[in-house]
Amino acid sequence: MRPQTLIDTHGRVATDLRVSLTDRCNLRCTYCMPEEGLQWLAKPDLLTDDEIVRLIGIAVTSLGIEEVRFTGGEPLLRPGLVGIVERVAALEPRPQMSLTTNGIGLKRTATALKAAGLDRVNVSLDTLRPDVFQTLTRRDRHKDVIEGLYAAHDAGLTPVKVNSVLMPGLNDDEAPDLLAWAVEHTYELRFIEQMPLDAQHGWKRDGMITAGDILTSLRTRFALTSEGEKRGSAPAERWLVDGGPHVVGVIASVTRPFCAACDRTRLTADGQVRTCLFATEETDLRAVLRSGAPDEEIARIWRLAMWGKKAGAGLDDPSFVRPQRPMSAIGG
Ligand code: SAM
Ligand code: SF4
Repeated sequence: MRPQTLIDTHGRVATDLRVSLTDRCNLRCTYCMPEEGLQWLAKPDLLTDDEIVRLIGIAVTSLGIEEVRFTGGEPLLRPGLVGIVERVAALEPRPQMSLTTNGIGLKRTATALKAAGLDRVNVSLDTLRPDVFQTLTRRDRHKDVIEGLYAAHDAGLTPVKVNSVLMPGLNDDEAPDLLAWAVEHTYELRFIEQMPLDAQHGWKRDGMITAGDILTSLRTRFALTSEGEKRGSAPAERWLVDGGPHVVGVIASVTRPFCAACDRTRLTADGQVRTCLFATEETDLRAVLRSGAPDEEIARIWRLAMWGKKAGAGLDDPSFVRPQRPMSAIGG
């Protein structure tokens, strides 16, 4: 076992850290949250900005983390976000930093985030139609997301990636329109298969739009050529659009899982390490940290947690059990 990395018993090494900054959100996407929202984490249970920066520091300096992705809930709702980014950018070695956001508020913060050291953003947008957006997210904020996207691009948070989830009967006819629009704006579009991570347990395997469906739909308008071996540990299978250079990605977590190449470790907003989105167990780093443990002890416990990472999420296994936390509380 190489002591200075987050290696597991299957030989995978985690170099990519997903940090959830909050479980709260200003949208209510139907595939993620119920209309009434959720029981949010209490403030004292959340890691403070200092605690987050300390844990990321340990991950970068002692555990081989090379990339940090901030997520949530909606990470732009975290008041200290710009300060956290600034402090992480000052770490040695400096990790790559990106943010997954619904884009609301990005218009105001994109320039400050870039100046603080953020490299890129992924903005989630499932539809080009404001009325469908309202049905999907239960909020009338389509314009804010589009403006946020433009601002991210103008601020140089590039390449701007756009995440889309297709829902049957709502936006499943929009794949080619979304791609044409992304090509026009030079955003890299990635479709994500809907996963069983919604708090209200509405996911149905036989009703979901699969990667196969998405590719069939895109091919009605575009010629797609697989990028093949370039996928590596990246979750998205990428396809050249009409010969390139533009690409489109499909993240087929359900129908074509990429667990064998996974390089992720996750930290929830309340300081729990998760080895996988679908993990049913967590390791409480917050308790260790608040007990006054030194960095080396925290690093040791993090390594131990990752050592036990399961081979796969097992979504198609009859014994599959959904994690207790929904996506918004894990950090997608
Ligand atoms: N609020 C931010 C956002 O929406 O980008 C960050 C958190 S959100 C949980 C991260 C990503 O997870 C989004 O792209 C969202 O579309 C996706 N997501 C949420 N629930 C999902 C589900 N059940 N299946 C697949 N993707 C999901
Ligand atoms: Fe909020 Fe993101 Fe979940 Fe939508 S997907 S409800 S924007 S956390």
